[in-house]
Amino acid sequence: MHEYSIAYDIYLTARRCADDYCATAVTIVYVEVGSLSMVNPDQVSFLFEAIAKEDNHPALAKAKLMCETVLPKTSCVCGYTGDEIYVCPVCGALPTVVKGKDVMVTRLEIEVGDDDGNDVKTENMEG
Ligand SMILES: [Zn+2]
Repeated sequence: MHEYSIAYDIYLTARRCADDYCATAVTIVYVEVGSLSMVNPDQVSFLFEAIAKEDNHPALAKAKLMCETVLPKTSCVCGYTGDEIYVCPVCGALPTVVKGKDVMVTRLEIEVGDDDGNDVKTENMEG
């Protein structure tokens, strides 16, 4: 099940970040979903919440996924860049997909400490 392993990876990324920053809560996990990844964002969100519930990590109990669909970007050996994924409009070769195939966590919103409650930090990451 493709979506399950993706949701699990996202969950592990969020949990590792929560531990690294001693977060009391991860509130939102921003995820880019490439439109060529063949992944259903609703299903990933659902599975993410199911995994969080089962793992029962206190910082991730309320975490929600925010999925953003990313349109493909391609480049070609001739120098073309754009969104044609099958045929380069300049030279007719098969372009290389540089964006739009992957699913990745881009940012997390977390809460740290209990003094001022809403200290939200963001974390940029890859993969
Ligand atoms: Zn080309």
